[in-house]
Amino acid sequence: MKIWIKNVRALVPCAGKLAVQTCSIVTDGDTIVSLDGTGAENCDRVIDGSKLFAIPGLVNAHSHAYMSLFRNSADDLPFMTWLFDRIMPMEDRLRPGDCYWTTLLGICEMLRSGTTTFLDMFMMPDDTARAVADSGMRAVLSRGLQGETADDAGGMRRLREAKQDITAYSGLADGRITFMLAPHAPYTCAPAYLETVIGTADELGIGIHTHLAESRSEIETIREKYGCTPVELMEKTGLFNRHTAAAHCVQLTQNDIRILRDNDVSVLTNPSSNLKLGNGFAPVPELLEAGVNVALGTDGAASNNTLNMFHEINLLALIHKGTHADAVTVTSAEAVTAATLGGAKALDLPIGALAVGKKADITLLDLTCPQMNPPTNLLSSLAFSANGSEVDTVIVNGKILLDKRKLTTIDEERVIFESNRIYERVKA
Ligand SMILES: [Zn+2]
Repeated sequence: MKIWIKNVRALVPCAGKLAVQTCSIVTDGDTIVSLDGTGAENCDRVIDGSKLFAIPGLVNAHSHAYMSLFRNSADDLPFMTWLFDRIMPMEDRLRPGDCYWTTLLGICEMLRSGTTTFLDMFMMPDDTARAVADSGMRAVLSRGLQGETADDAGGMRRLREAKQDITAYSGLADGRITFMLAPHAPYTCAPAYLETVIGTADELGIGIHTHLAESRSEIETIREKYGCTPVELMEKTGLFNRHTAAAHCVQLTQNDIRILRDNDVSVLTNPSSNLKLGNGFAPVPELLEAGVNVALGTDGAASNNTLNMFHEINLLALIHKGTHADAVTVTSAEAVTAATLGGAKALDLPIGALAVGKKADITLLDLTCPQMNPPTNLLSSLAFSANGSEVDTVIVNGKILLDKRKLTTIDEERVIFESNRIYERVKA
């Protein structure tokens, strides 16, 4: 399919920064082939961009899309109570097939709010991959892994399931699905088991997605058990020898930040989730200052309670200004970069920018919405005034998945019906 978005204001990379320029974007197949209208002959679809704003599809760098099922069902609770007493018992009642629908629920919300790619950690093998394949979204899939010993029976089963997904889906879905392995966290994966996971990642040549240094109780548990910080422990196990994307990284020492930088670990910050669970938030200004790649995620809807990246961009651009008493800390450009190019780097994919040769993942915002006017500084509007309701059209891998606010590949009514039916069965 060839698409021509004519005469559109677009957020493009320009001399190492982000700039808004009037473009004429042409996509051919899964790729952006020009920004100046070159090659626009014989397009299958021409979109008048005069009242639209084109941005790179947003990258949700940390999610558990299936957990959309648990939205608003366990709130205002301490972190460990939330996880072990409320969320995990409901997860245990899920059946194979359930997470196909609940992941699609998350995908509907992400597409409607301009996200085109997500890095997902999940429990049910196959369901997430099918949901991504059927919806047309792009995703990096990472089966959640836990284990107490090097050959922990449950841990080995999960690792086998991860490999089965990789074998089954690699190269399918037009290359939209790639994989990482996801050892859940330092407090659910013993070092011996992590070494097994690292061995498998080496063998498969894929990266690692994990939760790291999320809460104070994690810091205390790891210090009591191993006499070091979670980041120091992960470095010792050799986890960072693979490409690593680490979610949260809220509780960091100066030495932790140095380790993350020296090992080129991407930090996936999740402002809403960290705030909601009373964990604080990642020291993003200090990470950026040190040269660490920062990406942005929503985490699951059980701890957010939305998968709307505009909400996260807004929070990221605001919270550090407040705590540092400094209005220039984490600029709108830095917050938007975390949601686009920062995510692309963390996920190791050729996405996150409107540039020739990048994948054709494009979000078009409706500039006739009142909150986008006057259109004085559209980069600022992304960080400070947009809320996701402006998203009009979403293109992923060169295909239109949201067309003038209508989902083209997903039966949204059925997804909501099935998800609500599943919730009635698994709720406590
Ligand atoms: Zn998470």
